[in-house]
Amino acid sequence: MRKLFILIVFIFFISGCTNERDVSYISEDNEYVSISYPVTNINILDEEISSYVNKTYYEFKNMKYADKPELNISYTYKEINSDTVNVSLKTEIIADKKINKIKTFTYNKSNKKFLTMEDLINDLESLDYEIKKELLEKYQDADMDYLSNVSYDYFTVDDENLTLYFNPAEIKSNHDELIYLDIPLDSLDLLIDIDKSKDEELYFSIKKKNIAADDKVVALTFDDGPSKYTESILDVLKKYDACATFFVVGNRVPFYGDILRRTLNEGSELGNHSYDHKLLTRLSKEDFQDEVNKTQEAIKKFTGFTPTLFRPTYGGYTNALKSYTDLRFVLWDVDSRDWEVKSKEKILKNVLPNVKSGSIILMHDGLKYGLNALEDIVKDLKNDGYKFVTVSELLEFNKLWDSE
Ligand code: ZN
Repeated sequence: MRKLFILIVFIFFISGCTNERDVSYISEDNEYVSISYPVTNINILDEEISSYVNKTYYEFKNMKYADKPELNISYTYKEINSDTVNVSLKTEIIADKKINKIKTFTYNKSNKKFLTMEDLINDLESLDYEIKKELLEKYQDADMDYLSNVSYDYFTVDDENLTLYFNPAEIKSNHDELIYLDIPLDSLDLLIDIDKSKDEELYFSIKKKNIAADDKVVALTFDDGPSKYTESILDVLKKYDACATFFVVGNRVPFYGDILRRTLNEGSELGNHSYDHKLLTRLSKEDFQDEVNKTQEAIKKFTGFTPTLFRPTYGGYTNALKSYTDLRFVLWDVDSRDWEVKSKEKILKNVLPNVKSGSIILMHDGLKYGLNALEDIVKDLKNDGYKFVTVSELLEFNKLWDSE
């Protein structure tokens, strides 16, 4: 039954909307699952992407595991030039064994053709030796025999580098992380044009709110975005002159720079919710810091804003994790359970009777029912005399429900 439901969800996501940018699915029912993938509106590419994601999900569902298993799929999306799109999907599975793998797609719209490294680089053969030499230097346990058969199927392009990826089994390395090699674009004889990212306007202004000492205040928080619903959430907030704090997932940030800048400009705040939405309590100190720092960098790069707040994924954390970052951990005291109840009325019942001044309400960006309930929540609380503030403002006014 559950498998069928997931399949229906995916099919709905793919066919339901035409102007959406990506798909996200986060679940913690019997497992920790976080799946994000882009919607390019190029049919053949979108079919390839969703069929890969579905295949990976079923592979995960059929794996054996001792503890609650975990699946994380995150993505990059890059318009290499006006005609060519590059998408990467990184998968991490934590079950009885740990699997890291990558899939990339490069598609040329005019020729209606998926591109390979041969289409991008002139005389790949003469580069082959250099690549293998560098791989052996970087991954000294790699097996030379395996390396000689290695293919260049997986690559991404950014403004500086062409990055080659190899699944660990391909070069018989003991690394359980993905193996990659950055090659500076300047050093390559390229067969296609590569457009640099446009420098976008990063300006944002923080709107100050007038709050008096005896005002009743409340902070709405949205986890797991940005998503195809973020703009609709912002529309509701704007209509009622309200605001929220959005704890965003880092790998989704680059695709939504414009919406995140709008979020800030309309008086809301951005917080950090990790890069890949992994369960943090399973990470080493270095991996945890990597999840935090990559998200800080992405938000700074695409909005100019530097978050000071962190919300742990699945609400799971330890005191050790808290000590590994300067960001302030923020939980909540009112839980809408919007991901679970899937009904506007139940969400309202979970929220409205439980709010007091200083409350932090947990909701999720990316859920239809949550969006449906939002307008009633905002209207009702405003009628009750509440003023909406960001979590940072709650801290500033010293009215924070004690989340620690
Ligand atoms: Zn989350």
